[in-house]
This record gives sequence, C-alpha cells and structure tokens, in this order.
Amino acid sequence: MSKLSVIVPCFNEEESLPIFYEAACRELDGLCELELYLIDDGSRDGTLRVIKELAAKDSRVRYISFSRNFGKEAALYAGLKACTGDYVVVADADMQDPPSLIPEMMRILQTEDYDCVCTRRVTRAGEPPVRSFFARCFYKLINSISSTEFKDGARDFRLMKRQMVDAILSMSEYNRFSKGLFSWVGFKVKWLEYENIERAAGTTKWSFWGLTKYAIDGIVAFSTVPLLFSCFFAVFLMLTALVMFICCLAVKGAPDWLPLGTLIVFCTAVLQTSIAILSLYFSKTYTETKGRPIYIVAEKSE
Ligand code: UDP
Ligand code: MG
Repeated sequence: MSKLSVIVPCFNEEESLPIFYEAACRELDGLCELELYLIDDGSRDGTLRVIKELAAKDSRVRYISFSRNFGKEAALYAGLKACTGDYVVVADADMQDPPSLIPEMMRILQTEDYDCVCTRRVTRAGEPPVRSFFARCFYKLINSISSTEFKDGARDFRLMKRQMVDAILSMSEYNRFSKGLFSWVGFKVKWLEYENIERAAGTTKWSFWGLTKYAIDGIVAFSTVPLLFSCFFAVFLMLTALVMFICCLAVKGAPDWLPLGTLIVFCTAVLQTSIAILSLYFSKTYTETKGRPIYIVAEKSE
C-alpha cells in the first residue's frame, strides 16, 4: 500500500489544529498508509502541547518543533525533508486547505498521468479588499518580470509524487519562495479550483507588511529584472547626454548652462554604465549562488 505524508506548518494554531486533525482522520482513514507531519514553527501558544497530545495518542502523528519562529517556508522545507511518503500533501492547519479534497487529489495522481495536483482559489471572498488588490498587482508584476509562472490564487496546498518532492528538495536555497519553487521544478500538474474558505479558528499570521516583504522576497528570488533596471537607466542617460551634446554644437543660442549640464549628465551616465556592468555580472553570480539544478529529469531509460 502506498504511503501518504501530510505536512502541516503550524504557528499559533492551538485552536485550529484539533479541528484539522479530526477532519484529516475522517477523510484519510483507510485511504492509504498515513503519516501526519506537524511542524511547530516556534509557536507561542499551546500548539506544541496540542501536537504532543496528538502524537501520544496516534502513532501516525510525527512532529518537529523549531527553536523560534522561522516562517512557513522553513516549516514546509523541514516537513518535506523529514517525510517518507510516496505521496506528499502540504496543507495549512486552519482548514483553508480542505482535507476533504485530498482523496480526490489522490485518485487523480493514482489514475491519471500527473505528478502533482495543485489547488487554486477562484474567489477571494472574506479577504480584505486591499489585500486582494495588492495580491492581484503582485501576480501581474511577477509574471511580467519572471520566467517562472505564478498562478493568481494558487495555494501551497498540493499533492505531489515523491519524485517531485525530491526535485524541490534538490533546491536548497536559503531564501525559499515555495510558490515559485513548486512552479520552477515543472512536472505534469493538474489544477483543482475551489472557492475561498475562511479560517476555522484563530487569526491569520500575515500582517500587511509581512505580505509586502513576502512579495518582495518572491520577486527577488525569481527575477533579476529589477537589477537590470540600471542598464536601461544607463542607456537612457547616455542618449540624453548625446542629444544635449548635439544641441551644444548645432543649436545657435543654446543656453549657457547646456555645456556644463551635458558634462554632468555624461559623467553620471559613465558612472551608471559602470553600475550596469556590475549588475550584469552580479545577476549571474546571484543565479549561480542559488545552486539550482541545471535540469530535472522526469523519466529516463533503465
Ligand atoms: N505559518 C507558519 N509560520 C508562520 C506563519 C504561518 O507555519 O510564520 C502557518 C500557519 O500556522 C498556517 C499556514 O502557515 O498553517 C498559513 O498561515 P495563515 O493561515 O496565517 O496565512 P493565510 O492563510 O492568511 O495566508
Ligand atoms: Mg490561512
């Protein structure tokens, strides 16, 4: 019988966790061999106590507790690294990723030719409008400057085959942006859509600034275009200096300040060009330091 690992990052989830556990058991009991990996991300409430109680009464529950709050990305990585299932599902503890979808996801992976079943919310009902607006702007921006595809509304909630999990683990970069990593590794993906579900209990861990920082992290991790802006700026300044220089020579009665102005713009353009050249090399070095695999194999002959 194949084994399913469920990875649940938990930060201050003492109220939601029992609800999640009940629902997961109800949906997954008998489906296949189960392993429930609860990752306590330095919670300050009774989450660890709840996790230990669950682990004491159910041998399928395993846990890792962090020394402090390292963030959801770190918790996901720890869970993916520790789990042993042939199939691995990642789900939030707050029931916004409904465990009732997991049996259907399993059925798809076991009967159809896919490596991963991902989920996407098609509505953002219940979310503050400002947050939805900025989320949409973020997806538009990142898709226009990154070669990795980011689907609007895509959740981290997904079921993957072991091969895909290993591919994700082969990317050991420190600044992890899972939405991008999941997409970057490729594989055959099926999307399931569902309406947004509100938290079962507790409150969201994301403040507006937390989300802004998360968005910037995503852009920096998956695009070097911002770094290359300095190149556009250098070209723009050089062209401006050239036009001003031509005006100095060709226009009769040009203002007195024009020669000095041209010299200043030209010097700035030279400096900017140096920065642009550094940026080009730095963007390559940055990509190298991530140490991402050059390719990921999906299949090969014996
Ligand atoms: N989470 C975590 N570490 C954090 C913040 C969140 O492990 O620093 C977990 C949290 O317990 C939940 C999931 O990540 O299981 C998603 O968090 P939340 O529901 O607050 O985010 P939202 O659904 O509002 O985007
Ligand atoms: Mg949530």
